[in-house]
Amino acid sequence: MDLNSGVNPVQVGCDRAELHIQSETVTYNRAAPPPYSPTDPAVTAQPIIHQTIIIQAPLKTGPIFFNCPRCHERVLTKVKYINTKKTHMLAGFICGLTFWCLLCCLAALPYCLPTFKKAEHYCPNCNTFLGDYSKL
Ligand SMILES: [Zn+2]
Repeated sequence: MDLNSGVNPVQVGCDRAELHIQSETVTYNRAAPPPYSPTDPAVTAQPIIHQTIIIQAPLKTGPIFFNCPRCHERVLTKVKYINTKKTHMLAGFICGLTFWCLLCCLAALPYCLPTFKKAEHYCPNCNTFLGDYSKL
């Protein structure tokens, strides 16, 4: 055992471990990606795509101008009004409220007004279904 060196063998082992960690840090810094250059051939090789986006107006209760996806014409939609389950429920509710005061004829109001029905929009040229709208 060498008593003149004054170095504990355990401390020597710790010093070697610290040196190993420092060398790994240097290796990590070398792996950084290269900086961006505007003459990169991968970026300039992409084709330019021009795309036309048509924004459709939302459907309403009445007819609206709409771009038909089938005949590609801008048309005024043809609307069919359909009674739905909610139309019948509203008529029954009004009938129940007005039955005692003999005004139950008001229950026919949801069947007369297009506001309480589902509006189905069709193209007048090719009769394609374009969508539906319901307020209820
Ligand atoms: Zn059409």
